[in-house]
Amino acid sequence: MAKSMNYLASSLVAFALSTASCSFKPTFTTTMTSFAPAPSSTLLTNKITLEQARKNPSLRQVYLDKVISPSKSFKDCEIQYDLSGEHTKDETLAVTRGITCEGKLKGFIIFVGKTSFDSPELIQKDEDFKYLIECHEYRHVIQYAQGIGKFSGEEIYNAARDSKLELSVMNESLELEAANYGIKQISKGNFNINPYYLECQKRAHSKHLKKVMQFANKSSGFQKEFITEVLKQLKNQSIK
Ligand SMILES: [Zn+2]
Repeated sequence: MAKSMNYLASSLVAFALSTASCSFKPTFTTTMTSFAPAPSSTLLTNKITLEQARKNPSLRQVYLDKVISPSKSFKDCEIQYDLSGEHTKDETLAVTRGITCEGKLKGFIIFVGKTSFDSPELIQKDEDFKYLIECHEYRHVIQYAQGIGKFSGEEIYNAARDSKLELSVMNESLELEAANYGIKQISKGNFNINPYYLECQKRAHSKHLKKVMQFANKSSGFQKEFITEVLKQLKNQSIK
């Protein structure tokens, strides 16, 4: 159980740390679907199952391209299977990273780690993957692209860069908001994940909430304001 909790701690720290230069080079002008490798045939792509992708890492990108809804608007966001494991170390299921160039946000990459394929007790079916990417990780994209409450994504990013917002506080707060959003989407019937994954999401939510409340008590200035805004958003999360 504790191990699975770690799965959920996808990290946004890299976003704040990797922004001084164009550390990722892909040209980021097309949508996720345009990045999909050309499959040998549509028929083949549509037939790849989770079980096959678990056994054969070379099929995982094609599997993800199949599972992620083509109608979903992943503007400026690429979904990549992290074949080398460079971006999803330890037990990270997936990580969302911003790409900036000369201080401007250019887009996002959601890296999906091998752990997500190697954890059949947690990620049991296609719908679990859809939730992980379309709901949870994409929520991080929205957090940066559209901001949280009165704070724009740029303000949040700049505050973290300038140490007005500790990275640990930012991460816990954003994970809390994403978990809260996800659980609400599930309860609305928009995502159908397995009961164990749902239980893990609820536990992660409680853990993040507890930590954020602790941070709130010892924060001041921008950090305090940011936490207050995040907590406010949990209540009226019909969001954007
Ligand atoms: Zn997350």
